[in-house]
Formats: sequence, C-alpha cells, structure tokens
Amino acid sequence: MKYISTRGQAPKLSFEEALLAGLASDGGLYVPESWPRLSDAMIKSFVGMPFEQVAVEVLHPFMSEDVPRERLQAMVEEAYATFTEEEIAPLTDMGDGHYLLELYHGPTLAFKDVAMQLLARLMDDALIRRGSRATIVGATSGDTGGAAIEAFRGREAADVFILFPQGRVSDVQRKQMTTPNDPNVHTLAVEGTFDDCQALVKEMFTDAPFRQDMSLAGVNSINWARVMAQITYYFTAAAKLGAPETPVAFSVPTGNFGDIFAGYVAAQMGLPVAQLMIATNVNDILARTLESGAYETGEVVATSSPSMDIQVSSNFERLLFELSGRDADRVRALMGSLKQSGRFELSESELHLMRALFAAKRVDAEETLTTMRDVLAHNGFQIDPHSAIGVAAAHSAVLAEDVPIVTLATAHPAKFPKAVQEAYNAEPDTPQRVTDMLDLPEQFTPVANDLGAVQALIREKARAG
Ligand SMILES: *Cc1c(COP(=O)(O)O)cnc(C)c1O
Repeated sequence: MKYISTRGQAPKLSFEEALLAGLASDGGLYVPESWPRLSDAMIKSFVGMPFEQVAVEVLHPFMSEDVPRERLQAMVEEAYATFTEEEIAPLTDMGDGHYLLELYHGPTLAFKDVAMQLLARLMDDALIRRGSRATIVGATSGDTGGAAIEAFRGREAADVFILFPQGRVSDVQRKQMTTPNDPNVHTLAVEGTFDDCQALVKEMFTDAPFRQDMSLAGVNSINWARVMAQITYYFTAAAKLGAPETPVAFSVPTGNFGDIFAGYVAAQMGLPVAQLMIATNVNDILARTLESGAYETGEVVATSSPSMDIQVSSNFERLLFELSGRDADRVRALMGSLKQSGRFELSESELHLMRALFAAKRVDAEETLTTMRDVLAHNGFQIDPHSAIGVAAAHSAVLAEDVPIVTLATAHPAKFPKAVQEAYNAEPDTPQRVTDMLDLPEQFTPVANDLGAVQALIREKARAG
C-alpha cells in the first residue's frame, strides 16, 4: 500500500515513510492510495475473536509491504497489554438499542491511548530497523501529552518532549505527564498559554535545520497511523451487534475529526455503517458545515469537554478529499481559501454525499449535564462530559427500526473530576492506577516562552543530532 497526499504535490510514500513523516511536504495529509476491503466472512469471524487479533486483520493490509504480520501481532499485543480490561474496548448495553463503547481503559484513561500505544511501537520499530532516532515534539492542552508520554516512555529510538502551559492543566493531567521518570521523557512547563506552546512547536517544525538535526517527528492526529489504529474498534463493536448482516450506527464525540474519520474508513472497508453521528459541543464547526455546506472557523469557547474545544478540524481534509472524488486540486483550492478567508463551501454533490452517511448534533453545557445525570439514573454509572455529548447526540439520531447505535465513550469520568462534581455532586470513581500515580514524585523542566530557550533544551537532552 502506498500513501498519497490530499493536496497531490508531495511524493508517494510507503506506510513507514508516511508514519515517520506525519504531515506531507505540500501541507496535505497522507491517505492510502485505495481502501482495502474485508469480506463478509472475515467480519463475521470477528465475533468472539480477541481485540488484538481483530486489530491485526484490520490493520495489516495498510502496511503489508513494510511490516510482517508476526511483527505487527507482537506490537499489537504489547500495546494492548497496557489496558486494564481484557476486552480492551468493552461494549455496554444501555437499553433501547443504545450501546456504549468504553475506550478509556488505557494508561491515561482516554481513547487516545488506543492509537498512541500502537503508534509509538510502530515508530520505534521502524527507527530501530533504519538505525536512526527521532525526537517527538508536541504541545498539549491536557490529554494528548499524557497519552504520548505513556506510549513513548522507555522506547529505544525516540525521545519525547511535551510542552504544556504551566498552571493551566488539571492536577491529574499534569501528573500523568510529570510522574513517568524514564530518561527519554521530557516534560516542559512553559510560562505561557496552550496557544504559546503550539506556536513554539510549529516554529520548531518550520525551522528546517533544527527539524533535520533533531529528526523531529509529530504524533498529533494528522498522523495517518493514529487514525488507522482507531478503525479496529468500529469492527469489534459492530460484529458484536450482528454485522455484517445488521448495519450499525455510531455516535462520535468529535474535535479534530480523527476518530470519526476512522469510522468512515471502516465503512469503506466493507463494514455496514448505517450512520456516523458527529457529536460536538458548542464549538460546532462540523455541525454548521453539515447544515449549511459552509465550513467556517469561529471563536473557540472553553467548555467542560476541553478535548473538543476546536474550531478547525484538521482531519476534515481527509473527508474533503473523499467527497470531492479524490480531487487533490480541489482540496488544495479549498484549503487555500480557508487560509485566506477562514471559510470554504462544499459543492451540492459533496454536501449530498456527506449527508448520506453523516448526521450532526451540537450539545450545549446544560444538555451535557442533563445527559450525565440521565445515564446515572438509567444505567447506574457515571460518564464524562465528552462521552455525554456522544450519548445526547445518539438520542437525536433518526435511524431505521432495529438499527443499534453505539456511542464512543472517549474518556473516563475520573479524568474530569470538576465536571463530575458539578453533575453528580460526588467524587468520580477513580481507578487504582490513578490513585497510585497521585503520590509519585513529579519531574518537569520550567522554561520561558522563548523559542531559543526551548530549542537549546531539546538540543541538550535529545539523543538524535
Ligand atoms: C481527543 C479527544 C476527542 C476528540 O477526538 P478527535 O479525534 O479529535 O475528533 C474526544 N474526546 C476525548 C476525551 C479526547 O481526548
């Protein structure tokens, strides 16, 4: 399988090259040249098959020239051994055709672990075989940093540097980043905001000599391997509910459009997906797009679901490529217009195609709280605000009779104690691994909001360069 850029002006790459490159050199995103198809018999066989084995069947076609099956199998098993539930992604029946897919049993209690744990192993393996090293640099407002650190800690060929805004992340989030004490993990507390951290990372990636010297690599959700690793759970959940005979709908709490795009890919691979519900908070660029056809950025509003406080969904570019009939010239023009004027418009046929598979629902603060409480009342357990937005959206879905809908539960309530307190007037039920972590010593390096200072620190500590 070769990988092509959505903007059509970057070289075609192998899986491994796309994995290490992240963003394409023309500013586009890498996608596979074609979608592999799984047979109905194969999908049927996923019922009762361990998650790890389904992952190998679903993911190997994307990398068969680069990664032998046995090696992928070993990495998948190691990646998911870090999860506390044997099923990895358990499916809970909530009644009346609604199901909850629990994706938060990994080391940092959010669904990002599912992809990051595998991505780190794929990258490390590729680097070791090439005899090279990489420096992973990322900015975080909370969740991504912890997931990246947990996934890359102790890896042989990669060092990880995470910039977070000092004093602006929750205690649990900070401790998830500062308690791993492996020598290849570097947590930098920047005197600034999340936007400052992001700007610093961007500047480092555009500093060509620095980027090359340090072999910088990114692990944000534009990396194809992250989207890819999220396809697996659409298959395991749907197979449990009767796919391929029964079509299944999904409701996905969405920010950068990565997780839900994985659902689109599952459908292209042969999974009968009845609908993909885009569940957003009041930062509703995607819901507005589906309604009007105009993709228009807006002001970001801080909500109780911070991982979805986004008004530019970078992975939407991958869907745009698909909707346009894989017309890279068209994608390039639309992204140019977005950069210039903050907006673009889908054509009638693109909008029509999008509406054939996707629906969208914007869920405000009040409805998020009500839904958290309803789930406790009806089902007897707490959910986090991101998952609650998914559940609320699922209840607004218009589906054919007997089509079940699965809501992706993207974070554990213990990750958002303030929201849990507000909704339930109680402490979240906290897993043992979090309680244990809270007592560990913290290690981080304070640094000024200054490109030179951050670069000097990375040059000093990274093993690449
Ligand atoms: C990252 C994140 C999301 C949004 O996922 P995207 O792939 O960016 O759409 C939703 N919920 C939680 C808890 C997250 O951490």
